[in-house]
Amino acid sequence: MAATNLRISGPTPLPDAVRAATARQMMSHRCAGFRELFGSVVHRLGPVFGDPATVLPFTCSGTGGLEAAVVNLVQPGQRVLVASIGYFGERFAEIARAAGAEVEVLSLPWGRAVTPDELRAALRRQRSVTAVLITHNETSTGVLNPLGDLCRVVHEESDALVVVDVVSSLAATPVLMRDWGIDAAVGVTQKALMSPPGLALVGVSERALATARHNPRPRYYFDFDAMARSVAEATTTFTPAVSVCYALAAALDLIEAEGFGAVVARHEQLTAQCRRTVRDFGLELFANDADASVTVTAVLLPPGLTTTEVRDRLEREHGVLLASGRGRWKDRMVRIGHMGNVSAAELDAALDALGVVCGRPEARA
Ligand SMILES: *Cc1c(COP(=O)(O)O)cnc(C)c1O
Repeated sequence: MAATNLRISGPTPLPDAVRAATARQMMSHRCAGFRELFGSVVHRLGPVFGDPATVLPFTCSGTGGLEAAVVNLVQPGQRVLVASIGYFGERFAEIARAAGAEVEVLSLPWGRAVTPDELRAALRRQRSVTAVLITHNETSTGVLNPLGDLCRVVHEESDALVVVDVVSSLAATPVLMRDWGIDAAVGVTQKALMSPPGLALVGVSERALATARHNPRPRYYFDFDAMARSVAEATTTFTPAVSVCYALAAALDLIEAEGFGAVVARHEQLTAQCRRTVRDFGLELFANDADASVTVTAVLLPPGLTTTEVRDRLEREHGVLLASGRGRWKDRMVRIGHMGNVSAAELDAALDALGVVCGRPEARA
């Protein structure tokens, strides 16, 4: 049986209204009914992305969206700078390498954010950078980068495009594409957007669309220009994950009913609650307060306990599923997802179970 309290970093639990929406009958993605639904979804994603030129929905997981951004915005042989603070930063660099870019990596120790000064120094070392690739929220370490400040530094030091992985931050914390000058921001449905996996959502700027239009690199399914022309007519280039579009519309209803400001505040409160409880247990938080992610908290396990053992007991005895660590922390860390459809009570239950399994007398369960 699946764990009843799914506290991983995605897919996240679906609200009942979203589950119900996925059961709707299929419709043609060319019919008026779909255009109405889909046109409204794209429009309502605008505030979530901070007013992009448009949002391009590709039917694939988040990694597909990251690859789409790279192949549309970077030509083989062009130099890109990747600011990497963990596993997903490394993956972003791999995607760029696979696309034939000249990849420079500003690689920082896992567990903290990139500082604007570090990024500035890296940009000064690399004058001819076409694009800067940044992970907003590094899910592997539970760290949120100061994205607005980093974007400002990129624009002060270069003309580079700013391409951002917002997969685990979108809809939980502000992503201000227009104010911060982000050219492409890649999100997904299955994290804070509380929907099933199936769509990568790529917010793009006018500059990104123009760059893609003039990029001669061969590509077909992931072509930004073709997708932007379809989205302008409230449809997609190819058959989209129709049920996921239904789900996303229902999730946006919930976000709008709660209010985006309230959604952001709830994520901050849950983060504070999570960190306070972990500290009360005497367990070690991987990231410091200033850099803390508002969607996932990484906790180091006390000596003698392995991730495998802790996750197994949590799932078997408490119905709680946490994520394991990544890289060299794989078996020494657990990561608690608290994004999207999650209440203080559900988070508390998961934390109490963690306390019990880690032998903390403070745990209430
Ligand atoms: C989950 C995640 C991804 C990968 O998404 P997939 O949908 O599994 O391809 C990429 N980046 C970050 C920061 C993530 O948290």
